[in-house]
Amino acid sequence: MVAQGEGAGELMSGISESDVFIGIEISGRGQRVAVGDQYGTILGQAHAIDSSAPATTVVDTVEGLIDEACHRAGIDVASVSATGIAFGGPVDADRGLTLLSHRASGFENFPLVHLIEERFNIPTVIENDARAAALGESMYGSARGSRDLVYIHLGTGVGAGIIVDGQFVRGPSGTAGEIGHMVINADGPVCSCGKPGHLEAYAAGPSIVSRFRQAVRAAGSSDDDQLVENERTLTVRSIFNEAERSEGPAREVVNETVQVLGIAVANLITVLSPGVVVFGGYVSEAGAVLVDRVSARVRQYSYPATARRVRITRSYLGPDANVIGAVALAVRSHKDGTL
Ligand SMILES: [Zn+2]
Repeated sequence: MVAQGEGAGELMSGISESDVFIGIEISGRGQRVAVGDQYGTILGQAHAIDSSAPATTVVDTVEGLIDEACHRAGIDVASVSATGIAFGGPVDADRGLTLLSHRASGFENFPLVHLIEERFNIPTVIENDARAAALGESMYGSARGSRDLVYIHLGTGVGAGIIVDGQFVRGPSGTAGEIGHMVINADGPVCSCGKPGHLEAYAAGPSIVSRFRQAVRAAGSSDDDQLVENERTLTVRSIFNEAERSEGPAREVVNETVQVLGIAVANLITVLSPGVVVFGGYVSEAGAVLVDRVSARVRQYSYPATARRVRITRSYLGPDANVIGAVALAVRSHKDGTL
């Protein structure tokens, strides 16, 4: 576990050049294992794509991936100093448990850390994937050296990892940072959690696509009809591209997404005053101008003294943010000696 009071982005003391670490990502994209060094460089990796596999199967899969990744990195698994797990769902980091997965069964109060430690005899820590990505960005990415940052994931869901004064913010429920469920409009569309008008109902990838479909139906535009008809090309990226080209439902939906994200992030930075806000996830990668436009809205809406001190940027680690974040968890846990 990450020690209380230890800052993110500090120099790594207590770690030797020869130390190697394992990062495990378990998310909607399946399972991915990377062997990395203290600088966050991936030395070897392996992945499996079954994101709906039940918990016990995932342990077996991860075991095979660890062997494969170590083989590719040319190292013996016995030489690994520590392992970090970035899990796509709520976790109890102190007890090493996953609490729930929306994609797969058996992760309720599941002792994942204990099982991995038992099989490999390597000290292991776990964290929610957005928090792991936040740590990864603070140690190796866009927020390098920052002790106060928010990593915002815009993908199939919306969530954030918050680090304040070098410490993860988890809260007693472990759900701090679930910004996808911030209320934007109490009369708005229904969220995946069943409540109305949450941020995720506007800014998650599937929400953007479904709002576009509705807007096309309402407008009855023939060009956009074609885009909706061709399901294979209807992606967040194609909607963003269409919005660049012409006025119409795509532009309306993108403008609304930018507006809603601008409000949410303005409120977030007013509460937390982070030094850096990092956007990651495939929605943030889909539109080249999204982060710039959201950033402009944030500055327009938020408290000036806060806005002046915040840097808003795209993820440096990109699709590797979770797995490198998992390596970062391992590196810090080893450094801190709190396993
Ligand atoms: Zn919600």
